[in-house]
Amino acid sequence: MSWTWLSIGLAGLIGLSPLNAVPQLGSTPEPEPQSERRASASVEGEYLVSLNTEDARSAGFEVLGQVGDRWTLVRSESSPDATLQMARVRDSQAEIEPNILYRLTDEPLWEYQWALENEGQFGGTPDADIDVAEAWDITTGVGGVVVAVIDSGVDLDHPDLAGALWTNTGETVNGLDDDGNGYIDDTRGWDAFDSDPSPDDSNGHGTFVATTVAAPINGVGIAGVAPDVTILPLRACDVVCPLSAIVESVDYARQAGVDVINLSLGDYSYSTAMFEAIQDAIDAGIVVVAAAGNDGVDIDAFPFYPASYGRDGLISVASTDRNDQLSDFSNYGDTNVDVGAPGEDVAAGYVDASWVTGSGTSFAAPHVAGVAALIRSVQPAFGPAIVADLISS
Ligand code: CA
Ligand code: CA
Repeated sequence: MSWTWLSIGLAGLIGLSPLNAVPQLGSTPEPEPQSERRASASVEGEYLVSLNTEDARSAGFEVLGQVGDRWTLVRSESSPDATLQMARVRDSQAEIEPNILYRLTDEPLWEYQWALENEGQFGGTPDADIDVAEAWDITTGVGGVVVAVIDSGVDLDHPDLAGALWTNTGETVNGLDDDGNGYIDDTRGWDAFDSDPSPDDSNGHGTFVATTVAAPINGVGIAGVAPDVTILPLRACDVVCPLSAIVESVDYARQAGVDVINLSLGDYSYSTAMFEAIQDAIDAGIVVVAAAGNDGVDIDAFPFYPASYGRDGLISVASTDRNDQLSDFSNYGDTNVDVGAPGEDVAAGYVDASWVTGSGTSFAAPHVAGVAALIRSVQPAFGPAIVADLISS
C-alpha cells in the first residue's frame, strides 16, 4: 500500500487524565457517596408493604398494585413510622420500604458521566447532557446495529467492550479470504494502517471513542450512549491517520454494511478520495459522524475535513462542556458544524483495560454516533439525511 501522508491528526487528545485521579483538581467537590445518593430519592408518599393487597386494603391503605409475591405498593401520606404502625395492625411482623428511585445503571464511573446524565455533579448544570435516560426508555440499541470506529483501533480485550465487538461470521483464521471481501482473516475488523487483521489499539484514542459509543452496562467502567449496539473497529491511525488508511477503512465499513461511521479525525487539507469514499458510504445508507476539530477556529472560513464536506447525512460535531457551553478548544461554524455534544472532561475506556477522562471534539463525535445508532435501532429504514436532520434540529 502506498500511503499519502496528509498528516491527518486525531481530533481528540486534549489532555487525558487517569480516572483514579480526581478530575478537575482544585475546583471539584468530592463526589457524594453513592449510598447517600441512592437513599435520598424515593417516590413521595409511596411504600412497599409486606402485606397482600387484601390485608393492605383492610389496614386502610390506598393500594396501587401488587409487587412480586410478597409486597404491595401503597400510597400513604402518613410518616414512615405511622405507616409502619398501620401495616402492623394487620401483621405484627410487617415491613415497609419507601419506593426508592434507583439510578439507571450500576456502572461504577456513572458519577463522571455528566455527558449522559447531568445532575449538576462537579459544578455542572443539571440537564446539560444528551438526555440518555429518555432515550433508554425507548431503546439501549440492538446488536444488529453496527458503528464503525475508524481510529487508532480498539483495545480488543477491554472489559468495557466485552461482547460489543463485531465478528465476521464469514471468516476463519486460516490464511485465506474465506468471505471473499478482499481481506484475509479479518474476523474482527481490519488494521488499514499496518495492513493486518488485528485492529488492536496502539494509542488509546480509539478505545475511548468506541467505549463512548457502546460500552455495555455490565457493572464495570462506564455506560456507552448505545450500550447494546456493535462496534466494528477499523484501525487507520497511529498518532496520525494516512488518507489511504482512512479511505480503505471507510470502504471496508461500507462493504460490511454498517449503520454509522465515526471519524474522530481530520485536517484542513481537502481530499477528493476521502470525499468520494464518504459520499459512497452515505449513498449506501450509512450515517457519517465527524469531529469538528480542536483549534478554536471557524471551519466555515477554514474548512476542516471530513467535518466540512457539507453532505446531507454527514454530521459535524463540536464540543460542549458540562454547562452546555462551546468548549474553548472546539472548532465551530454556522454552516459546517451541525451539532454540539459533550466533549470536555468525559469519562471513557482506555488501553490496558483502564478508564480515563479526556477532552476533544473526538470525544464529542461518538456521543452523536451513539445517538445515531439508537435511532437506527428503532428506525432501521431511516436514511442518513433523516437521521442527521433528527439529530441536528
Ligand atoms: Ca475476508
Ligand atoms: Ca460498562
